[in-house]
Amino acid sequence: MSKRDYYEVLGVSKSASAEEIKKAYRKQALKYHPDKNPGDKEAEEKFKEAAEAYEVLSDDNKKARYDQFGHAGMGGSGGFGGGFGGGMNMEDIFSQFGDIFGGHFGGGFGGFGGGGGRQQLRGSNLRVRIKLSLEEMVNGTQKTIKVKKLKGAPGATSKTCPTCNGSGAQIKVMNTMFGQMQTQTTCGTCQGIGKVADKIPSGANEQGLVKEDEEVTINIPAGAREGIQLNVRGKGNDAPFGGNPGDLLVVVEEEEDSKIKREGDNLHQELFISFAEAALGTSKEISTVGGKVKIKIDAGTQSGKILRLAGKGLPSIDSYGKGDMFVHINVWTPQKLTPEQKDFFEKQMQNGEMDAEPSGKEKSFFDKVKDLFS
Ligand SMILES: [Zn+2]
Repeated sequence: MSKRDYYEVLGVSKSASAEEIKKAYRKQALKYHPDKNPGDKEAEEKFKEAAEAYEVLSDDNKKARYDQFGHAGMGGSGGFGGGFGGGMNMEDIFSQFGDIFGGHFGGGFGGFGGGGGRQQLRGSNLRVRIKLSLEEMVNGTQKTIKVKKLKGAPGATSKTCPTCNGSGAQIKVMNTMFGQMQTQTTCGTCQGIGKVADKIPSGANEQGLVKEDEEVTINIPAGAREGIQLNVRGKGNDAPFGGNPGDLLVVVEEEEDSKIKREGDNLHQELFISFAEAALGTSKEISTVGGKVKIKIDAGTQSGKILRLAGKGLPSIDSYGKGDMFVHINVWTPQKLTPEQKDFFEKQMQNGEMDAEPSGKEKSFFDKVKDLFS
């Protein structure tokens, strides 16, 4: 089955504002909400489809990538789990977008499960940002970071909720002109969990959780890019009263590199060579994301020359290709001369041996820029 366009899924135009996108998603989510369509598989699929579309279109980075590359830009490469590109499960949807449903449905914890039944015990997700160098993104790396998360406090105990007797639901009976009507809602005492705190050690919150630092080691696969989200299962907040912890969502950010600049998949760097090196030719070692590379500088190289190292850029996110590395040559004019050097250059100037003699075939700055983009 081919994937539907995210804008089409939400029924908005490509120029829709963030507010319009949110509104459109809310409408879809309420229409296909599992509480309204119990047991309806098709509604559940539509519900998931809308959440996936919203997850991408509500995130500036992902939206930009989707606008540029379509579904091809949405993941796949190198084992980015969960998050997007298909496969959002219901828990993810409620933990990420639960607030959008407002008071309409159970809300709060987990938020679904058939009209206020027992909610699943699961901790909330944590989201952190991690800065990576270009090299780390291309080659993959391992990072250990400190996260502040909610953990079950030692000595905290729970008991069955006295209001709902552990069912997580409250039944209300109302007398209406049509007779008695029963409605089932999420238990207000335990928010549907079915348990409440019994003994709470000092310093812990009412769900028996304390905030603590924890070191988490994250494996970053090769091919990561700015804005990509990695999902580390079970490293989010602990669930109250012994449920499964949430996930740690790691958003990748690109670290500014002092030497190498990125432009799409292409990389650029400046290389300064001496006047003598430009005149006589030489070889230089430069850094690329794949390690050091030796390049040859021809005798008579002019300042402003751009060398293209094919395939030494970043792996392309939408194809198997690779970007290039462009080395911008700058010839360094000496600023201090010994009396002998001064004498030498003065003689050259007088007899015109070193005069500029452009042949007319030299490429102008504008030609070079044009070449780069052709
Ligand atoms: Zn309860």
